[in-house]
Amino acid sequence: MRVSIVGAGIAGLSLAWALRKRGVEVSLFDAGRIPNPVSSSFDEHRITRHSYGRLPGYGALMPQAFATYDQLWTDIGASHYLPTNMVFVSREETDWSASAAELDRVNVPHRLVSPAEVALRLPMLHADGVTAAFEAGGAGMLFASRIVSDLARWVAEHGVSLHPHTRVEDIDATKGSLTAAGTRHDADLVVVAAGAWLPELLSETAGRMVPSRQLLLYLEPPADLAKAWSEAPILVDSGSGHGAYILPPRGGTRLKIGDHIFTSRGKGSDDRIATAADIAPVMASAASIFARFEDYKVLEHKVCYYTVTDDEGLVVEPIGRAGWVLSACSGHGFKLGPLIASGLAEVITGARPASSFPDWAAGRKPAE
Ligand SMILES: Cc1cc2nc3c(=O)[nH]c(=O)nc-3n(C[C@H](O)[C@H](O)[C@H](O)COP(=O)(O)OP(=O)(O)OC[C@H]3O[C@@H](n4cnc5c(N)ncnc54)[C@H](O)[C@@H]3O)c2cc1C
Repeated sequence: MRVSIVGAGIAGLSLAWALRKRGVEVSLFDAGRIPNPVSSSFDEHRITRHSYGRLPGYGALMPQAFATYDQLWTDIGASHYLPTNMVFVSREETDWSASAAELDRVNVPHRLVSPAEVALRLPMLHADGVTAAFEAGGAGMLFASRIVSDLARWVAEHGVSLHPHTRVEDIDATKGSLTAAGTRHDADLVVVAAGAWLPELLSETAGRMVPSRQLLLYLEPPADLAKAWSEAPILVDSGSGHGAYILPPRGGTRLKIGDHIFTSRGKGSDDRIATAADIAPVMASAASIFARFEDYKVLEHKVCYYTVTDDEGLVVEPIGRAGWVLSACSGHGFKLGPLIASGLAEVITGARPASSFPDWAAGRKPAE
């Protein structure tokens, strides 16, 4: 069987990995280099965790998602994962009971943290206005660009035919073929994993999968806070007008802050040059969260794209008789990418029914 994959982010690369392990002949196309530095998957880190709150279907999948990453570490010969606790700091009334119940179901420890403990343990945050905090285990950092770089090496070494710098212009999902640079490439099946560029290639997905331009700030903390930051957990700080996530500088990475509020503007092919309009809201969030923010040095403004759906579910669906869309959407496409791609590889090779797969991949059903 021959499968063509469009897009070499975490979705396309992990599908190539999972299909090759099942003996499938794979061709992987990307408009940029592989991995592509402007893809959503190419950043210093992405968060993984067990609690999902309002998306319990994904909470139920997380033990399998962690297990799939363990298989990946074995294959690529390195673990690009750092377990850390995660502390959710709230500056408004928050009910943690759904998260607590979800973590109890998978035996992951958690506890409430008082504002006084937040002030003592996290001196880098403004203590004023903190109403409560919740600490969860079972979380950590996935070192994203290292993962996609090693996956690209693994697939190249295991016979996947790589086509970097090859923009796919057209898909024929009835025949499993695609056209790139005027040349037609035939296969039994074509899978489109084009991230935020998807609506530009498959216009029927526009409106449903919305690219969302987001800004990440990389920072250097003041010297006297460097030790506290180097020991810090992953932080989520939410209050009126912001829902920021903060990755401490650990495992050779830099301190990063982003805001989970989707902008829902832009498109995959736009440039990645940060404008004042990109930068201002995240700077404002950082200033309201970090004490002495004026003492931090801004190292980089990085523009990145989410692809967002109304319910934040991943979209993995058949198109035509010989095609699939594999869209690792929203803020959880990286942690779930290898699991969902492995499931799709099972469907493609006939080891799993196709009919229930889109609901499972969208987190609409409990784990099978
Ligand atoms: C700011 C931010 C923070 C995030 N945080 C988290 C997090 O903490 N945890 C988490 O799990 N997820 C997180 N995500 C989501 C996660 O990063 C993405 O869901 C995931 O990386 C998407 O992977 P992908 O393979 O679908 O797309 P991408 O990585 O964007 O890859 C798509 C590839 O397709 C190629 N392509 C597109 N069109 C064509 C074409 N026509 N021809 C050839 N190639 C083409 C592109 O060049 C690109 O390389 C975050 C995302 C952002 C933006």
